[in-house]
Amino acid sequence: MSDCIFCRIVAGEIPAKEIARTADAVAFHDLNPQAPVHVLVVPATHVANAAGTDTDAGERIMGRTVRLAVQVAKELGLAESGYRLVMNTGADGGQSVGHLHVHLLGGRRMTWPPG
Ligand code: 5GP
Ligand code: ZN
Repeated sequence: MSDCIFCRIVAGEIPAKEIARTADAVAFHDLNPQAPVHVLVVPATHVANAAGTDTDAGERIMGRTVRLAVQVAKELGLAESGYRLVMNTGADGGQSVGHLHVHLLGGRRMTWPPG
């Protein structure tokens, strides 16, 4: 059994409020939402973060993960109002879970610069 939380969510071993699933990626609600819509989209295959996708296989994984995030944004009615996609990468990026994930944030106006 994997000790990676998101691998376990992908495998259905840990419950999550799942929104969408393809052969390559899974979208589910964040446990601790930072916006009215806060969804995490993760690749089905374990990759630590964006830095681990600098290969042809990684490019496919990244593309399919971001594509599902864009599809979910559309399904949740965010296409017109806009939204933010975030990939925290490593310690200074604020990454706390070591399995690549795209945060889909929407439903309010985001601020810049980020914290
Ligand atoms: P990071 O800080 O790595 O960019 O984001 C990790 C995100 O995963 C956080 O927003 C956190 O709330 C979320 N998270 C951590 N553990 C779980 C979990 O078990 N289930 C869900 N749905 N979200 C989680
Ligand atoms: Zn994993």
